[in-house]
Amino acid sequence: MNRFSKEFAVQEHTYPLEAWCIRETSFDTDSHFLDETLFALGNGYIGLRGTGEEGYSGPAGTSLDGTYLNGFYESEPIQYPEAAYGLAKVNQFMLNVPNAKGIELWLDDERFDPLTGTVQTYERVLDFRTGLLTRVVEWTSPQGRSLRVQSRRLVSFENKHLFAIEFEVTSLNFEGRMRLVSALDGAVKNLEAGDDPRVGSAISGPTLHMIDSEQADGFSALVQKTHNSGFTLVSATETVLSVDLPPVTAQDGQRLTQTWELAVNAGQSLTLTKYGSYYSSRDYEAKELMWRSKDTLASARAAGFEDLRLAQEQYLGDFWQQADVQIAGDDALQQGMHFNQFHLLQSVGRDGKTNISAKGVTGEGYEGHYFWDTEIYIFPFFLYSKPEIARKLLEYRYAGLPKARERARQMSHDKGALYPWRTIAGEECSAYFPAGTAQYHINADIAYSIKTYMEATDDQEYLVKAGAEIVMETARIWTGIGSYDREGRFCINQVTGPDEYTALVNNNYYTNAMAQMHLNFAASIAEQLQAQEPAEFARIAAAMALDANEPAAWRRAASLMNLPYDDALQIHAQDDSFLSKKVWDFANTPKENYPLLLNYHPMVIYRHQVCKQADVVLAALLLSDQFTLDDKRRDFDYYEAVTTHDSSLSTCIFSIIAAEVGYEDKAYDYFMETARLDLDDTHGNTHYGVHTAAMAGTWMGVAYGFAGMRVVGGELHFAPKLPKQWQHYTFKIHFRGALLEVHVQPGQVEYRLLQGEVLDFTHGGEAVALNLSQPKQSRSFA
Ligand code: BGC
Repeated sequence: MNRFSKEFAVQEHTYPLEAWCIRETSFDTDSHFLDETLFALGNGYIGLRGTGEEGYSGPAGTSLDGTYLNGFYESEPIQYPEAAYGLAKVNQFMLNVPNAKGIELWLDDERFDPLTGTVQTYERVLDFRTGLLTRVVEWTSPQGRSLRVQSRRLVSFENKHLFAIEFEVTSLNFEGRMRLVSALDGAVKNLEAGDDPRVGSAISGPTLHMIDSEQADGFSALVQKTHNSGFTLVSATETVLSVDLPPVTAQDGQRLTQTWELAVNAGQSLTLTKYGSYYSSRDYEAKELMWRSKDTLASARAAGFEDLRLAQEQYLGDFWQQADVQIAGDDALQQGMHFNQFHLLQSVGRDGKTNISAKGVTGEGYEGHYFWDTEIYIFPFFLYSKPEIARKLLEYRYAGLPKARERARQMSHDKGALYPWRTIAGEECSAYFPAGTAQYHINADIAYSIKTYMEATDDQEYLVKAGAEIVMETARIWTGIGSYDREGRFCINQVTGPDEYTALVNNNYYTNAMAQMHLNFAASIAEQLQAQEPAEFARIAAAMALDANEPAAWRRAASLMNLPYDDALQIHAQDDSFLSKKVWDFANTPKENYPLLLNYHPMVIYRHQVCKQADVVLAALLLSDQFTLDDKRRDFDYYEAVTTHDSSLSTCIFSIIAAEVGYEDKAYDYFMETARLDLDDTHGNTHYGVHTAAMAGTWMGVAYGFAGMRVVGGELHFAPKLPKQWQHYTFKIHFRGALLEVHVQPGQVEYRLLQGEVLDFTHGGEAVALNLSQPKQSRSFA
């Protein structure tokens, strides 16, 4: 029995099962920390956790009132008591930046705080179609003053620097002096990580220091700098009250306030509209930040909240038009699916300079770092739903190529580029190399995403401009670290595969098989460009000092790649030694000892056959045509028994392969575990941020899993199934300029061309051709 065995699963749904929102109807300190994550808003740049505008006065450890900017980080030297050559030197971590949401509300001398007095009614809704976080609270103070607060919050998808809050207060029975304080608080810090490496950074104390501030009627701005990374940040707010009254501005250290005080009568309403912006020197020169902030806030104010709300709804309307996955027959799942898609959009950097971190911009877990999660888990969702975002993710990697080259030199590779295992700005930040730098497969993962991108878009301009160089530079690392053994097999030693419970092994199957794909892809690109774009090829080859013999050496290494296989068990061996290790004693491992990484020394884990996550099984998905169905089934059976799924990246992959090999119940159960991982907090750590890879794994579960979608050799295939729990499901994909809708019902699937002129693919192996005269076709399946 492993952690995923049924009896360990949490199956409680916190919110009513609604397709397009999550709705909370009571205010609860126990779930507050988690709710701050689930109700977080973001736009791929700014992330605002769901904490109320009035702040939070509950028990310590039940809140993290964080605000994050994707890619805005502080750096600090990594302290190793025992240093070694080549270890990552400097960590980068996403900063908690000034809290600009704050609105204090006073009725005479009593402050609005839902944790004092009585909450009469409470409702908070995060709506995936409008992008609004709405809250309505009716509250009576300890001394009997009653009011209603109605607030709406959005983080603009149109302008990445902007968010807005509309805060309406209605006095229900109160007559007296009301005070409204709009605050911009720069005295913020990051969470301290403690012993859990997944929580946050190890830094304590403030990380931003103030260098200037500015205030005028309704306007507040703080100029701060980071100590080590040397960035400047301007955080600014513009607050407008619905009645014409000048505010009193004040400053207390790094806290700037605008205060309005006025007499109110019972029944009277007042609305405070607050616009907030963040501009940093990662995007613009420091001297431009203040005027840009003022400009953005002035335009937002001129447009008004309603206009911003409409623009938000329009952006999301367009997103859902392309990305919506509909599942009929399972409300819990439909809600989980939409929630995940919405959070992915909220998390993804769309400017080519930032990427998508493991927790998006919802929390400090994993320090805002980008991992292979992007290329292998998250990329497909964007590629097939919103390809322009996928391209931005690839642009980010191209911007990181110079640093990947530098890193390769530090790692004693005289040629090529080695991407960092985890990073924000491109430098390797993984302090624990056995489960970090040793995951050389990151290079092949990036190449794989470029290959997938090319197959789906045929974007030759991208290939010539950036993709070819990345793929060839990174391929060189394999011929650099690999070598031929006495039998003439090409071996890659001392690396770690995806499974982080097994480290520093020889011939990790996943790594070798992905390296083989990578080497062949690099050689094909070289051959293709040489023939079709000789001038461009010459330019790229000169830039990377490519030796004319290298592509042939890549082909040779690929063709002689050592791909471990155990003849007796008839399964792919995870690596040279995995199958000869002792199997972990699952029967005697108490449930509280999971995840193992928090309860056993890494070496104890490494000595056993135990997997944290899909490894060979992931290769069976990504390199689908290299496995027979029987291979897949045997690999699944074997590795399922030794996998804990302690990583949130695991269950979606097991679900997909289970669907393919015909294990319907397992496919469904693993899929459900993935789809509601954050909503049901099944890993118990969603309060530190959502799990973006698992969220995207849900999309893969539908498309790759139940609909059997694969792209092999540039050809698109489907082999749909309908889980018995569902009535039907529908999703869309962009492929080669076409937009295809796939609608799966009992025994029948309908393919419909929504955009584009033609699309060819196969259904269960049989060719289907859609075109303008025949844009819709149905096929049956067993
Ligand atoms: C997983 C890695 C993953 C990282 C960030 C770890 O727990 O083992 O595969 O990249 O989390 O999500």
